[in-house]
This record gives sequence, C-alpha cells and structure tokens, in this order.
Amino acid sequence: MEAVHIEDVVGDFVSLKKRGANHIGCCPFHNEKTPSFYVSPSKGIFKCFGCGKAGDAVTFVMEHEHYTYPEALQYLAKKYNIEVEEEQMTPEQKERNNERDALFHVSEFAQKYFADLLFNDEMGRAVGLSYFHNRGMSDEIIKTFGLGYCLEERDNFTKKAKAEGYSDKVLEKSGLTIYKEGGKCYDRFRGRVMFPIYSISGRVLGFSGRILSKEAQAAKYVNSPDSEIYDKSHTLYGIYQAKSAISKEGKCYLVEGNVDVVSMHQSGVCNTVASCGTSLTVEQIRLIKRYTPNVTVVYDGDKAGIKATIRATDLLFAEGMHVSMVLFPDDDDPDSYAQKYGSTKLQEYLREHEDNFIIYKTKTLVADYKRDPIKKAEVVREIVQTIALVPDLLERTEYVSQCAALMQMPEQTLNNELAKIISANKRKAYEKQHPQESKPAEGQEQPPVQGTAEEVADKVAPTEEQRAAQQAAQTGDEEEARLIKLLLNHGRDKVKVKTPKEDGSTEVNEYYAAAVIIGLLKDDDITLKNPVYSTIFDTCKEQLLKGEVLGGDYFIQHDDPEVRNAAISLMIDTYKLSDLWQEKSVHIPSEDERLLPDVMETVNSYKLQQVNAKIDEIDSQLKSENNADDTDILIAKKMQYQKLKRDICTLLNRVIC
Ligand SMILES: [Zn+2]
Repeated sequence: MEAVHIEDVVGDFVSLKKRGANHIGCCPFHNEKTPSFYVSPSKGIFKCFGCGKAGDAVTFVMEHEHYTYPEALQYLAKKYNIEVEEEQMTPEQKERNNERDALFHVSEFAQKYFADLLFNDEMGRAVGLSYFHNRGMSDEIIKTFGLGYCLEERDNFTKKAKAEGYSDKVLEKSGLTIYKEGGKCYDRFRGRVMFPIYSISGRVLGFSGRILSKEAQAAKYVNSPDSEIYDKSHTLYGIYQAKSAISKEGKCYLVEGNVDVVSMHQSGVCNTVASCGTSLTVEQIRLIKRYTPNVTVVYDGDKAGIKATIRATDLLFAEGMHVSMVLFPDDDDPDSYAQKYGSTKLQEYLREHEDNFIIYKTKTLVADYKRDPIKKAEVVREIVQTIALVPDLLERTEYVSQCAALMQMPEQTLNNELAKIISANKRKAYEKQHPQESKPAEGQEQPPVQGTAEEVADKVAPTEEQRAAQQAAQTGDEEEARLIKLLLNHGRDKVKVKTPKEDGSTEVNEYYAAAVIIGLLKDDDITLKNPVYSTIFDTCKEQLLKGEVLGGDYFIQHDDPEVRNAAISLMIDTYKLSDLWQEKSVHIPSEDERLLPDVMETVNSYKLQQVNAKIDEIDSQLKSENNADDTDILIAKKMQYQKLKRDICTLLNRVIC
C-alpha cells in the first residue's frame, strides 16, 4: 500500500485534474457532466459526492475492474512491480480466480505468440509484416498495438498453447480454439493479421483477425466471442493506447475499423478509437465520456457507411456528447487517405473538414429539399428529432436558431415542432417506466421524466434511499462530525501542552491530538448520537487505552462499509484549521501550534452542546415532576451542569446565554 499512488491508479481510468490538495474528475461509477469525484493523494482515498462510492486504491480497482480482493492486489502489485507470495486459497476461490486468470494468461500468451510469428516467422514476415509495412505502419506502432500474425494451419496455435500447459477448457472459453463434437479442434484464427483488443488498463481481452488472402468464402474479419473477460459492447478498440491523448486533446475521433485506428495513430492522431465490430453502444460512449464529452465521428466516403452509423449518432446525443463529424471523399477512409497523401495531409483534412453534426445534417438535407420542396416538412421533422435528443436546453436553443437560419424559416416553427417531439419523448419514457399506469390525460401534469438522456442516467444514478443514507452519513450531527473529522485527520499529530508545576514553573509535554481529544471527553457521561461516529470514537478510545493511536487510514480499511464511507467523507475535504489564533496574538502560528486551540475549541463546543441538551432535558423533567425530593435532585443536577457549562464557556471565551 505504501508503493501505491492512488492518483496513478485512478488516473489509468479517469482523467483527473489537480484542484488544491485533491484531484478531481468525472466519476467512472455513475453518469455525470460536472466532476464530483475526488481523489486525495496524501490520504490515498477517493470519494464521489454524486453517487457516494468511496474507498482506497484497492477498493477502486475491485469496483472498477470487477476484481476480487486478491485480484485487485495482484493488479496493483503488477503495476508497481511487486512480487506477491500467494497463500493457499479455498478450492472455490481457486477455481474462480484460476478461470479468469487463465483467460487473461492465455490471451497474453496468444498475443505474444502472434506478435512473435509476425516478426520472426518466414510466413509472418512475408505476409503479415509486409502488409503492415505497406500500409505505412512502423515497427514501433505495430508493437504499440501488439499486432501479430497467425499461421494458415488447422491447429498451430492450439498445439503450441497445449504444449505450454493451457487446458482444453481454457482454450475453448477464450474462443481461441473451436471444439467440434468428438473432440476435434481447430484454431479460430488462421492465416490472418491479428489485432489484440486491450482493456482500458492494458490487458489483452480478445482478438480481431483480418484475412489477407482473397478467399471468397472467408469473412474479412473474425472476432473473439464474448467471454468471462471480454464483452465487446463494453470495449473500444484502441482505448488503452488512445486514452491519454483523448484526455489531453479534449476530443475523441471515432473511426470505423481497427486498421483506421492504427493508421490514425501512425499519422500522429492518437486520440482515435473504433467500436469493436459492433454498432456503438451506450457503454462504449460512456467509456469515451470518462475522458471527454467531445466526439468526432469519422465517416468513410461511401454513403452506406453514413446510414449505418446514424443510429449511433443519436445515442451519442442522448448521452450528452458534443458530436462533430468528418466525411472522407468518395472511396476513401482515414487509412487509405493517409497512404495516398501522408500524415500531414491527413491531419489537415481532419482539421479542415470537421463539421458540427447537426449543422452538417441540416446543410445536406436543405440541399436535398431545394430539389424537392414537398420534402420540406419531413426534413424539418428529421432535423428537429435530432435536436430533441440534446439534453442541454441552451445547446438545443442554439441549434434551433442556427438550423432555422440555414433553412430560412422562423425559429418559432422549429420550436413548435421541438416542443411536440420532446413531449412525445417524455410520454414514451414515462410509459416505459410506468407500464401498468394508464396514460396521463391531456391537460394533466406532465410526467416527471426528463427525456432520453436522463432516462438512461436514472438507471445508474443512486436511488432515493441511497441518497438519504449517504446524506445522513455525510451530515449527521455537525458538532460530532467536526470532532471525528479532527480525530481522523489530526489524531496522530502531536500537540504541546503547558502544565503548571507546583513550584510555579510550567512544564511542556507533547501529546497525540487523539489522546487530548479522548482524554478531555472520557470522564464525561457522553456518547455520540450518530452510531457510525460513535463506532469510530469508541474504537479510537479502546485502542488508545491499549497504547495504539489510530489514524484515518485505519478506518479507510474498516470492515464495515458504513464506517469506511463515513471516514472517507470526513477525510476527503481537507481539514482546515480554524482562524481562532488570529484573535489571540499577532504572531502567526505554525500548523501544529494551531492544532491545540482547534482541538480545545472543537471538544469544548461539542461538550457545550451536550451539556445544553442535558439542561434542556432536566428542564422538561422539572416541568412534569411533582415529587419534592425528586425535584431537589433534579435541581442539584441542573446546577452541576450549569457549573460545567460556565467552565466550558470560560474556556471557549463565550458569553453564557
Ligand atoms: Zn459517482
């Protein structure tokens, strides 16, 4: 854990920006536009104030990659080159871990084997490597993408893998080997150049193989089937190699094929990905959205390509992405264009031909209806339908005015149409969510659904109960929270306390702040109301009596997720020492000189609040008490508390009220 830097671990998946002591970014666990995901490098923790997910580097990896605890440790150990000695696992654990591990291992083995064939086998060099070289790809870029070649043989790979000890079961599950009835098997990929598909963190999940021979029946591309480690709808080709460029450029190019991705990278346009042989999914869009909201869809020159991706574009709008597009000239794609004209021209072309998607669509359709005016109403509807998908009102308004100008018609016409479509969309969404209810009658209150993007967002957003629980944990009792916050953030810091000695001189002793806080409270009959805070306080107290001073890090690893969460919440926003010292002297005290007054103030205002509550309690008892003896006892008690209150207030320099 000492070797782990949480900002690096999280940074492999989330684009983080430094803000003060923390790093912030958009939460990878829920859908959001404004960052509410905080990472504290000094404390080694993260916390999302949107959905409440919180933890340390291990929890992050577990949640994000769906790893088990040992898997997460292995992942981190690998990242920091630390060797892990494994203990015995239960047979079930072993099997589950073994299966996933084995799939990762066999995929990594296959990638290495195919890459080796590409560079060192005669056929690999003659067919595969020369294919890549002919497309202008350097050895460096080939290695960056781990490209390879598989031989045109029935079971060359399977034999090799079995000789290395991989079982039939693992080979079959990985999809690398296809088994027929009667135990016969053959390689899924034969005589193809191989594009390994990497996870966002750089592990090989599967493959896409492109055929080079002009065999009539063979498919141009063969892809790994989904497996326990590979889900093609959740993966983007090139994301591992592109993620930092996407984040840096604030833009992601979405191209159609794997070759285009590699070609764009070779041409210096590294912020490029492709969907892995599927039409774009919501999950894939969200993967991009972690790094940027700006997508530029790159279309090949053929018109069929545009039609095929138009649905995907609607999804992009619904997810709140800003969509631009680049259309390549007839019969060209980024790869062929780069081959013909070179990298610089490709970059130039991308820059000069980028159009806002909606504006482009409008221009094209306007050109169409100028030839056929009957189509005008249809065109208006089609354009407005796309505008209606944009979740942001301001952006929608902007599109309406630009498109109205292009179509030379009043904005009001488009706005009327827009209102109709949005209300129809809302109704559809409402009915989808409440299938058993009858339709709301005309004139009744609008259904409380915001439209498509929000509809999707709702599915991942925290439920009302989760929100409430989170809020309770976050706010709780303010004074109690302050106390625990101080304990967690500064408990292990030392404070100097002056004690008067009998001979009139003073002695200065150093104590842990935790010892002072607990010491000041331990003789009073006080228990914290918030059960989670109470657990933290009592644990600190117990351990202190045993001689151990606990810090915040102990509670980050706590078994109880509620305790863990509350601790992280209190630790993530940096604890600022109060400005109390300003009133007392002109000398500007150092951080540790300021800690003691802060401890005293926090503990005493907490005590004061407790004492006030006791006095109120006694007052109400006195009102209902008729027995004289009991009344005397209560009054005596009240006087004791009032004395205590005066003492505390003197310490606090407060007026008794
Ligand atoms: Zn979140």
